[in-house]
Amino acid sequence: MPIYELKINHNLCTGCNICVVSCPINFDQLKKEGQLTKDNAVILVKNGTARAIYKEERKINCDGCGVCIEACPQKVIKMEISKID
Ligand code: SF4
Ligand code: SF4
Repeated sequence: MPIYELKINHNLCTGCNICVVSCPINFDQLKKEGQLTKDNAVILVKNGTARAIYKEERKINCDGCGVCIEACPQKVIKMEISKID
């Protein structure tokens, strides 16, 4: 399985939250669990900047759809595919 790793330029990210709300996985998790936390979200704003969250042990991680990359007004999100088994 590929791992989609988001690289966010924290110097230019404004923390606007658009990536967080645009992410389809976050949306599904919000619908299912009623809130987004570091345990169910794949991208969250923390301390003023967006952070990608990957956890090997959980079933749901970023699927590389690229919606957040397109949605970011600052264009500060890049994706790397880090592992394919
Ligand atoms: S690439 Fe897609 S699944 Fe991954 S964080 Fe961005 S919007 Fe969500
Ligand atoms: S959409 Fe872009 S600028 Fe806004 S919080 Fe996400 S990464 Fe930062």
